[in-house]
Amino acid sequence: MLLSKSFIPILKNNPSEAKIKSHQLMLRVGMIKQSSAGIYSWLPLGFKVMKKIESIVRQEQDKIGAQEILMPTIQSSEIWKESGRYDDYGEEMLRIKDRQNREMLYGPTNEEQVTEIFRSSYKSYKSLPQLLYHIQWKFRDEIRPRFGIMRGREFYMKDAYSFDVTDEDAFFSYNKFFLSYLRTFKRLSLTAIPMAADTGPIGGNLSHEFIILADTGESKIFTDKRIFDLTSDGTDLEKSSLEQMRKKYEQFYSVTDEKFNKEEFEKMVTEENRLITKGIEVGHIFYFGDKYSKAMDTAVDLPGGKKDFVKMGSYGIGVSRLVGAIIEAKYDEKNEIMKWPLSIAPYDIALIPMINKNDTSALEKANNINSVLIKHNIDAIIDDTDENYSSKIKKMNLIGVPYQIIIGKKSEGDLLEFKEAGLETQNLTLDKIIEIITKQKASN
Ligand code: ATP
Ligand code: MG
Repeated sequence: MLLSKSFIPILKNNPSEAKIKSHQLMLRVGMIKQSSAGIYSWLPLGFKVMKKIESIVRQEQDKIGAQEILMPTIQSSEIWKESGRYDDYGEEMLRIKDRQNREMLYGPTNEEQVTEIFRSSYKSYKSLPQLLYHIQWKFRDEIRPRFGIMRGREFYMKDAYSFDVTDEDAFFSYNKFFLSYLRTFKRLSLTAIPMAADTGPIGGNLSHEFIILADTGESKIFTDKRIFDLTSDGTDLEKSSLEQMRKKYEQFYSVTDEKFNKEEFEKMVTEENRLITKGIEVGHIFYFGDKYSKAMDTAVDLPGGKKDFVKMGSYGIGVSRLVGAIIEAKYDEKNEIMKWPLSIAPYDIALIPMINKNDTSALEKANNINSVLIKHNIDAIIDDTDENYSSKIKKMNLIGVPYQIIIGKKSEGDLLEFKEAGLETQNLTLDKIIEIITKQKASN
């Protein structure tokens, strides 16, 4: 891709309306464009990153056996009246009337919709468990939309739903999602800590928020530092190993402010291990038993002729919020270098030819290198503009292209001037560069 032909509207300076670094950077490099309060268009750079995050989220849902569906954004008010949430949800819900004067709404979440799908399809315990998910736009008329896409009104969410016969089976499903969340955030090179959380309007009594540390986060957290040393590596999808894994995390005090209890915190955590800080909620999982299935009369036949309401949980990840959260975690503001993990970077590598007016050989060389890279599935952007060397490097650092090849005087013969964003240059052959990038990609 040639930079001169790309739709990447970069601003010279940070936009003054943005208060936190992710919002600043996203506007500065043209990842998003505000359309109205809390509502954004995603431009090529931002859209590419979000789609890559979405794909990792999807792969990790599939790995635990969840099945992807796609429910609509617009829902009928009928099912929300059945569950009792049509009134409870209040002003956050965007309500619409169609031409027949029917009350519709733009879905803020999908518990009712998915329960309605389930109940009309399955009647027997034999079909359970079922784990269903979709990745779809949501709308919540937030009272204070802010920080760009971090707290939007329209946002992109992965939400999953589990259906089981017994509480015990349902905990097994819950733990599968718990593991898949740890794996997902790890692949995005984020340290997301599971924290016991309140269930809020969703209801129920078992819930965890997954939070990454950031000064600009809106959640206040109280935690035991030792939780950061844990990993879920090696956990398989067996019931007992999943239980042990969750227990391992739950042994450490770790809550958001709604659940905070000073006495308990001080009793469970020694002073040197206490950490009180702020974080960003990137995921949230809930177990709420038969809250919706009872209200919406969703039961299955049990062996022996009895019937019971299905036990449900729901599991959300803020896919669009993650774009901002990763910037908050990875952007080196001082040096203006965005360190996207390679797995989600908008491009794998930048080719930076030093172009003179009368000499296009560097650009030709860049094009030739690009044809080889394409064969190896390496996605390159060629900066074919006639800016000087340092502003080209600055721009690629700001966009967050992890690797760069500079095609100038020092890239002679087979050896190319190669660098990782922000680090020193090395002279390497193209084969070696391809090997480095391919290996790095495979490790994720
Ligand atoms: P918050 O406490 O941040 O308002 P929530 O608890 O209301 O979020 P959930 O219903 O748990 O949100 O939604 C699941 C996930 O969707 C959240 O963990 C978050 O990552 C994302 N999310 C929720 N609201 C927004 C929003 N307004 N803008 C962007 N992402 C959001
Ligand atoms: Mg939440």
